[in-house]
Amino acid sequence: MYNITMELETIIKGNKSGSRLAVFAAIHGNETVGVRAFEKLLPNISIDSGEVHFVIANPLALEVNKREVNMNMNRIFKEDLEKDVPEFKRAKELKAIMDESDAILDVHSFNDPSGEPFLICRPDMYDLAKQLPFRIVSTGWNKTHPGSTDWYMETIGKPGMGAECGSLHRVDEYISLAIQTIYSFLKYFGCINAIPEEYQPEPRKDQDFVMVEEQIYKQNDDFAFSKEFKNFDEPQEGELIATDGDIEYIAKKGQFILFPGTNQPIGGEVFTLGRRVNA
Ligand SMILES: [Zn+2]
Repeated sequence: MYNITMELETIIKGNKSGSRLAVFAAIHGNETVGVRAFEKLLPNISIDSGEVHFVIANPLALEVNKREVNMNMNRIFKEDLEKDVPEFKRAKELKAIMDESDAILDVHSFNDPSGEPFLICRPDMYDLAKQLPFRIVSTGWNKTHPGSTDWYMETIGKPGMGAECGSLHRVDEYISLAIQTIYSFLKYFGCINAIPEEYQPEPRKDQDFVMVEEQIYKQNDDFAFSKEFKNFDEPQEGELIATDGDIEYIAKKGQFILFPGTNQPIGGEVFTLGRRVNA
């Protein structure tokens, strides 16, 4: 259970005109890092220009601490939302907020207990990504994961960024990262003039910009990697990566492996293939 102690949409306006932004938290209900960041940040923040909407995206799932109740809210925006399902009703409200916003930041956690944080964005936000303390900056997800908030923003020609702020099992460790990311997003679009000292991000010099090419889903119980792969391992061209029933996954030149994990039900995402891009 999660006790929601704030409005589902908190709007803070500055005295000057400027960008209109939205920050979404908990579109997957068990990814509470964004909500925890809001709890810390909202009592203290003031906006200089424009307005910012801080949004608890999926209160239904947040309250019961589940990723989703009836459906995945972060794949829903490609659907016709005229159905009598609570998620569709909420998605219509979120869509209206996105339609009115100049840019969106969607704050997530992930299930992998030991994975490292990463960004999901498009090249139009690389400048912001370079100011943030995420080593992995990934793009290209909208082909493999249509229907997300970032996907929807792309369809209406506006910037959207997803910040995967660490494991949902270790939320306390990543609240600061989420707050740094939110402040940096607001500063980048001019809604605040300065980031408070304690939340100044330390940009990384070792960033990897990657283009996602293919998402692999588990199809059989016997799915197995040919050896243990870590994030960003680059197999040889022609090397066997994994087998799944009769399927063999063979590496193409320059491809590397992202987010490997076998501990998935059938239909779950077991790894992603990507390629480095220049930024
Ligand atoms: Zn998520």
